[in-house]
Amino acid sequence: MATPRTVAIDGPAGAGKSTIGALVAERLGYLFLDTGAMYRAVALAARRGGVDPDDAAELGRIAREVRIAIGPPTVRDGRPYTVLLDGGDVTWAIRSADVDRIVSQVARIEAVRDAMVAQQRALAGRGRVVMVGRDIGTVVLPDAERKIYLTASAAERARRRGEELAARGEVRSRQELLREILRRDRLDSERKVSPLRPADDAIVVETDGLTVGQALDKVLQVVTRTEAGQTT
Ligand code: C5P
Repeated sequence: MATPRTVAIDGPAGAGKSTIGALVAERLGYLFLDTGAMYRAVALAARRGGVDPDDAAELGRIAREVRIAIGPPTVRDGRPYTVLLDGGDVTWAIRSADVDRIVSQVARIEAVRDAMVAQQRALAGRGRVVMVGRDIGTVVLPDAERKIYLTASAAERARRRGEELAARGEVRSRQELLREILRRDRLDSERKVSPLRPADDAIVVETDGLTVGQALDKVLQVVTRTEAGQTT
């Protein structure tokens, strides 16, 4: 099996990047880093500190000063990994509706991105990493040996997000989730700094109608093949 040093997986909200990325990392025995969790942690810190999500200077300061650590699950409650913010467990707090609402505003601030990208590159330095996000193949790791752009229709992504929340006892209407996903898509792809888009050399994998197992197989085929092709 040909295994790359680094695997970059990008795509819009709810495309399955975290689920699939974690499984790919487990299969390869690589470190898994979900960079969305880092932007979420900064958004949570801003919220807790009462900082306006448009206050670029203050958000930049927070992003540089907070300590974010992402590691293996420390509690067996279905979490894929544990996220610590200044030493406190925020694994579920960063998934709240409040954070969903402001995270894309926070993530469009250049100073916030600079601070996060520096940490992400440092973590990828030794290789053997699967990193998922919006700008991994385009900006964070432009030399990643495998780049995948995972996507699905907005309706499918809203459905998945609804199921994920329902599994944690949070019921939200499908319409509200769809609106929120479309709003985040717009903010993430229209922003000036590092907008969401597939890298020129990314392989696009559509996951509509696929089970997690089927999507994983498709992605693993791309990750482990010797010569990167153009389509799946
Ligand atoms: O992936 P997830 O939905 O958890 O990411 C939350 C938000 O963080 C995204 O909507 C996006 O605004 C931001 N993000 C980003 N760049 C990344 C990862 C996430 O801007 N590499």
